[in-house]
Amino acid sequence: MENKIIPYGRQDITEEDINAVIETLQSDFLTQGPKVKEFEEKFAKSVDAKYAIAVNNATAGLHISVMALGLRKGDRIITTPITFAASANCARYVGAEVWFADIDRDTYLLSLDKTRELIESKPKGFFKGIIPVDFGGLPVNLEAFKKLADDHGLWILEDACHAPGGYFLDSKNQKQFCGNGVYADAAVFSFHPVKHIACGEGGMITTNSEEIYRKLLLLRSHGITKENMVENHGGWFYEMQTLGFNYRITDFQAALGISQLARNNKGVVKRNEIAQQYKEAFKSKFKFQVLPDNSLNAHHLFIIEVEDRKGLYDYLHANKIYAQIHYIPVHQLPYYKNIGYSDVNLSNSEDYYSKCISLPMYPTLTAEEQNFVIKKTLEFLHD
Ligand SMILES: *Cc1c(COP(=O)(O)O)cnc(C)c1O
Repeated sequence: MENKIIPYGRQDITEEDINAVIETLQSDFLTQGPKVKEFEEKFAKSVDAKYAIAVNNATAGLHISVMALGLRKGDRIITTPITFAASANCARYVGAEVWFADIDRDTYLLSLDKTRELIESKPKGFFKGIIPVDFGGLPVNLEAFKKLADDHGLWILEDACHAPGGYFLDSKNQKQFCGNGVYADAAVFSFHPVKHIACGEGGMITTNSEEIYRKLLLLRSHGITKENMVENHGGWFYEMQTLGFNYRITDFQAALGISQLARNNKGVVKRNEIAQQYKEAFKSKFKFQVLPDNSLNAHHLFIIEVEDRKGLYDYLHANKIYAQIHYIPVHQLPYYKNIGYSDVNLSNSEDYYSKCISLPMYPTLTAEEQNFVIKKTLEFLHD
């Protein structure tokens, strides 16, 4: 059968999206105009957070978030090795050390127990913060992490790049949306085309802290503010108060983001329907990421575990099904190995990595395409 390439994830650009961008291109503002503000307000509302700051990508968002949280040279943070490198790299940008705690073998998320063990194995004040990742779209139970963090005076930066629209139920049975800032100090989202909301490049930081919000505004734009207008000074007055960056997003990207955001909840529903189909087809044949009760997985990914992972990967690719691997454990990447991580032993992460494969998962995946993916996967298993 001559099929089209079926990627593991892809963007969906509608006529409406295109018109929104064109309208902004014809307006007075290409950047720093009304669309950025509108995107921030709508995004904050969509995840139930107080403040949102749009940035040029999530990596930049992570960078200025750790700065706003006060991370400095020689400080230490804890994160998961099963994530995109950027979750860890942000600490390296400011000269801080990254310590990896192992994952939970069922949820594939940073293990609370392993994180606690690591913290308790060191003197007080050794670590400054924790960067948990809502990996694959599965929300981290941040209530539990917050308790641990509070006991040891640590902050939490949630990497929610995979999870806009996901939530978990806390101990009071309250729906806690990823990035709502209730149990984390700040959260970061990505608008890379492979994520839920596509802006080309783009990101968003959410927080409930006015202090963090103000620091982020400065850091996003050169450290410059016009806020402290001195009396009798001219209208041109501005101050550069700190060394910041240009991490701004453009207005036409924000226009695309607004249009995409409006469809995100529908997209998450569709992603969950697709996941359900996979689970039914593969029941008792493969191991999947385990969803804690009453959580909603935003399903950036759908991962199965298979012994002959390379065999399945090659077989699917030969059939133009571009399954992907998420991720090579960060501590095994050459950069991290070279700076001293070559002896780190994280057996759950390494075992997970030897078996994981992400199957196509995106709202516009058709039933026909999904059936083809299922058929080829089962065919491989039975050969
Ligand atoms: C995509 C991603 C990032 C980085 O996002 P960019 O917008 O491409 O910078 C960071 N963390 C995780 C977990 C991601 O998946």
